[in-house]
Amino acid sequence: MEKIIQITQFLEANQADMTFITNPTTLHYLTGLDIDPHERIAGLMIFKDREPAIFTPALEVAKAKDKTTGFDVFGYEDAENPWQVIKAYLGDRPITRIAVGYPDITLAKIEGLKSVFSGVSFIDISSLIQHMRLIKSPDEILKMKKTGEFADKCFEIGFAAAASRGGITETDIVAKIEFEMKRLGVPAMSFETIVLSGARAANPHGYPENIAIEENKLLLFDLGTMYEGYASDATRTIAIGEVADFDKEIHKIVLEAQLAALDFIKPGVSALEVDKVARDVITKAGYGEYFNHRLGHGIGMECHEFPSIGGTEDITIEEGMCFSDEPGIYIPGKVGVRIEDCVVVTKTGCDVLTHTPKELQTF
Ligand code: MN
Ligand code: MN
Repeated sequence: MEKIIQITQFLEANQADMTFITNPTTLHYLTGLDIDPHERIAGLMIFKDREPAIFTPALEVAKAKDKTTGFDVFGYEDAENPWQVIKAYLGDRPITRIAVGYPDITLAKIEGLKSVFSGVSFIDISSLIQHMRLIKSPDEILKMKKTGEFADKCFEIGFAAAASRGGITETDIVAKIEFEMKRLGVPAMSFETIVLSGARAANPHGYPENIAIEENKLLLFDLGTMYEGYASDATRTIAIGEVADFDKEIHKIVLEAQLAALDFIKPGVSALEVDKVARDVITKAGYGEYFNHRLGHGIGMECHEFPSIGGTEDITIEEGMCFSDEPGIYIPGKVGVRIEDCVVVTKTGCDVLTHTPKELQTF
């Protein structure tokens, strides 16, 4: 309920009457209820002076009651106008200002709220939620560690599949990894698994195809799992057979950059400094122009969340933050290497959430 109190204080400070929070991940974070309403409407309504309420499609009401405590739950049938149901639920309570997540709520939902609360205005609550989600609790950190273990398991499965040869393709390897994860009870990957062979890995946003992996080339894996609502995200680049000395050199530089940042991360340093430590290694080696993305991103209930590590905005690193350290060098038509771990910041440094070896492994 501490989270709800923080939101109530936001409502007080901003003269807002209630929230209407529609982002399913935020709903999960604040209430423990994990639902995807698809095109239907679910909203978390927190007030200054009464019990918070969860509004869901009727189909989800039983689950919402079962999975949450301290929330009043009410729903609407498909044949009902959801906005009228909300209005009826609130009776004569005046609603003049509603706190919503600007990046998430659709214009259709805004219009729906306006249709029953005439003259209502809105305020963005997303920055507060981002900051609440930024510092992970001990329970969240345990889940981050567990989901990291599943990512390590993915590498083990993927490397073995690649080592089996026999014309195995990028998408074959993806299928093997994801099949085994499902069997282990992982409900979903945190994003589409990436397996890219040779020069195809030079596109940092490339996607796997049904193309046989190349012998004597590097093979890049970028993957992650969901576990109890928490995401993992990690990248390893391995050698299939005997790769060129040039490829080994690029791998060595990226690893050095990745380790330099890991070594530097601790409370009190800034995100831009962390990025710079890794970037300087790559720049000094002469490949700065081929490291064309920020060093990392926050991670938690979503694979990419606040804050950015590198880029334009800066933030001071604090204990309990989780984010990725993922430098890369991408030389078009030639080679792509990225090495990524996510970390949780501790009192004096950071704990790494994935433990698959990072030195160039040959299969
Ligand atoms: Mn990442
Ligand atoms: Mn990744």
